[in-house]
Amino acid sequence: MNQNVKKLINEWHDKNRDPICAYIYDLEGIQNHVKSMLKTMPRQSHLFYAIKANPDKRIIEALLPLVKGFEVASIGELLKVRGVSKDIPILFGGPGKKNYELEIAIRENVSYIHVESLLELRKLIIFAKESNKHIQVLLRINLRTKTLPETKIIMGGYSSQFGIDEQLIDEAISILIGAENTHVHLCGFHFHSLSNNLKADLHVEMVNHYLQKVEQWKRVHGLDVKVINAGGGFGVSYDETPGFEWELFTSLLTKSEEYQNLGDTQLFFEPGRFIVADYGYYVTEVVDIKVSGDKCFSVLRGGTHHNRLPASWGHNHPFSIFHQEGWSYPFKRPEVQNSKVTIVGELCTPKDRLYENAKVESLRVGDIIIFEKSGAYCWTISHHDFLGHPHPNFYYIEGNHYE
Ligand SMILES: *Cc1c(COP(=O)(O)O)cnc(C)c1O
Repeated sequence: MNQNVKKLINEWHDKNRDPICAYIYDLEGIQNHVKSMLKTMPRQSHLFYAIKANPDKRIIEALLPLVKGFEVASIGELLKVRGVSKDIPILFGGPGKKNYELEIAIRENVSYIHVESLLELRKLIIFAKESNKHIQVLLRINLRTKTLPETKIIMGGYSSQFGIDEQLIDEAISILIGAENTHVHLCGFHFHSLSNNLKADLHVEMVNHYLQKVEQWKRVHGLDVKVINAGGGFGVSYDETPGFEWELFTSLLTKSEEYQNLGDTQLFFEPGRFIVADYGYYVTEVVDIKVSGDKCFSVLRGGTHHNRLPASWGHNHPFSIFHQEGWSYPFKRPEVQNSKVTIVGELCTPKDRLYENAKVESLRVGDIIIFEKSGAYCWTISHHDFLGHPHPNFYYIEGNHYE
C-alpha cells in the first residue's frame, strides 16, 4: 500500500475524532504512470485523457503538461478543461449534443468534434457557417463488426445510441461534400467500442480492424485522413485476472502492418480508466460489526453513495485493512476473526455493499478499509446526496507532500 496514504490517515486521526471518510488521489503516481505509457507509444500516436473517468481539477492539472489534450463529452466537462487551460487541444464527443453545446464548442475552439449522428452533422454545418468558423470533425462510427473483444461495457459492434451506423457513412460523406457545406472539414474517424478490455493482443486486433476499415473508406471515397481516434477502453483488473499489458499493446501495434501503413495519418488514444484507476484510494472506517443469521456484516462510514462502481458492476471491490489500535469503551471491541464478512455502507438499502463475503484474518470496529483502484468511475458516477450523509474529504499526494 502507498505509504503516503497511511501517513495521511495517521495524521488525520491525530486531529479528528470522527471516523475518516476520504478520497486520496496520488497525483505523482498518475504522472509517473502516464510518463511510462508515453515512453513506448508509437511515433505517430498521441495520448488524450477522457476526463469523465475522473474530472477532478487537480488531476486535470497534473495531466496537463503530459497529455496531448483532453476528451470531453459535455459542455460542463469542456468548460472544466478550459478553466485549467485556454488552449490545450480538446476532443468533444458524446451523443445528443444540444445546439448550445455545439455553439459553445465552436466558440471555445475545440480541436475536433466527434460527430455522432447525421442530424448533428447537418446542424454543425449551419452553425459553423453562421459563426464563420472552420470546424474539424471526426465521424464516430459504430462498426457492424461482430468480432470485437467481449468486455463488461460495450458501445459498438451492435445496435447502440453511439456513433453513426457504418452503413450510413456514404450519406455522411455526401452531406460533407455537399454545396451547403463551406466550414466543416472531415479530418478522420473516431471509434470507441468498449470499456475495460484486459487483453492487449485483442486490443491491437481491434485497433488494426479500425485501421483496415478506414483504409477501405479512404480508397472508396478518395479521402485524406489526418486522424484516426481509436478511443479508450484499456482495462483495469479488479480481481485476480491479470491487468492490461500496455507495453505488449504498444509493441504489437508498432510492429503491425496496419500501423506501418498509416502514412501521415495520426493515431489518437483517449483512455480514462487506465490512466487514473490505480491512483485513487477510497478510505473509510468500520463503524459497526454485526451478525445477522449466518452472516457477518461490517458497516462503514461511507458506501456506494461515494463509490458506486462495485454496485454498478456487481463486483467485489479490492481493499486492504489498515488496523487501528485504541478502544475507549468499557465493553469489548466488536470484531471478526478468520472468517467471512460482507462489507456494506451507511445507506438504508441492501444494494449498498462493496464486498460480499470477504475473507479476513481480523477486522475490528475502528479499523480502516482502504478501497484500492478507486481513481476512475468511482466518486464521479456516485449518487452523492442520497440520504444526505456528509461528502468525503479529498486529499492529494504529490511526492511526499499531501493536502
Ligand atoms: C468513456 C469514454 C472514453 C474512456 O473510456 P475508458 O474505458 O475509461 O478508457 C473514451 N472515449 C469515449 C468516447 C468515451 O465515451
